[in-house]
Amino acid sequence: MKYIILVPDGMADMPLAELDGQTPWQAALTPNFDRLAKTSLVGGVRTVPAGMYPGSDTCNMTILGYDPTKYYTGRGPIEAAAIGVPLDANDAAYRCSLVTCDGTTMFDYSSGHIPTEEATVLIELVASKLGSSRVKFYPGVSYRHIMAWRDGAIDVNTTPPHDITDQPIADYLPQGDGEDVLRQLMFDSLELLDNHPINRRRRDQGKRPGNMIWLWGQGRPPEFPGFFGLFGKQGAVITAVDLVRGLARLMGLKVINVPGATGYIDTDYRAKAAYAIDALRGGLDFVFVHVEAPDESGHEGNVDHKIGAIQDIDTLMAGPMIEAMKKIDDVRMLILPDHATPIPMRTHKEGPVPFLLYDSTKPNRDSHAPFDERAIEEARTQIEDGTDLIRMLFDR
Ligand SMILES: [Zn+2]
Repeated sequence: MKYIILVPDGMADMPLAELDGQTPWQAALTPNFDRLAKTSLVGGVRTVPAGMYPGSDTCNMTILGYDPTKYYTGRGPIEAAAIGVPLDANDAAYRCSLVTCDGTTMFDYSSGHIPTEEATVLIELVASKLGSSRVKFYPGVSYRHIMAWRDGAIDVNTTPPHDITDQPIADYLPQGDGEDVLRQLMFDSLELLDNHPINRRRRDQGKRPGNMIWLWGQGRPPEFPGFFGLFGKQGAVITAVDLVRGLARLMGLKVINVPGATGYIDTDYRAKAAYAIDALRGGLDFVFVHVEAPDESGHEGNVDHKIGAIQDIDTLMAGPMIEAMKKIDDVRMLILPDHATPIPMRTHKEGPVPFLLYDSTKPNRDSHAPFDERAIEEARTQIEDGTDLIRMLFDR
């Protein structure tokens, strides 16, 4: 038996007037989902406990069988693992975002999606001027970087910069343990970066400068038990997103990099499916395939992009994966979004999501719920603790 988990990030949504009361998922043409639903167990599942923010980190942890209330320590340490930052148990890892800010107002959490080559120069300058034996900076991709702070403070309130676009920053600066150090680093970086030639050139070209660092998402390195030890399966993860890559590293899962995987609607869906099948054919028991495109479309508020992404996942991934797998071995496949990213909200929404569990050896003939948001209302099976789902996948 081989096992696949397919996660279309943020696929669930809300009924939209412009779609005559349908959700993007319901409006999308999904012949493969529909066909699978006829012989699968379809239900609803909570991917984070009620009251906890449904981030892609916490939700995907749950899907992989790790209770976030037990193992989650923050976003920074997971992204640090993704880019291989060495951390000791007492170190604090912070997400270090390169932002556009004049010291008073937050203009852009992404510095106009600054290219990695430019951002790397700026972060390396920050590292050389503001770094020390205790504080180190590690460049990542685009605006996303990491600060590691030896024996650093973590009991401090910080704010994601994407939550305060165009707002005054005064009320959102770090508050609590270590706030002086953190604030000093942030304002010193503004001095250092504001007039850098890269930023002068970006301004001349009408682009947003990466002129300040913003520190948030802190935590100590989490201690995850190994995936193989928990479930006895050798597995791999395919994703374009650092957070999910970091989870995989921390769990001891293999990370498969797929050329053309972008984390956006132009991603190479076919290639991701093909690499997943190759991994199983090559001897792995389990593959987790994460697709970011529907989530990005939800954050953009773009209905057409979202419907297109869902249709592409159905046609170019779910269908071909099942067909290819049947030729190799028996297969169980779990499909679910990690959370909803509804078009009207443009951010993640709390609450249960639909799931589909397919088993090529045991067609389920008494599940009549459609595989979309209606499953949360209509399906008989509703799972409160999302970590149960992977156990059902492996042991059912
Ligand atoms: Zn998202």
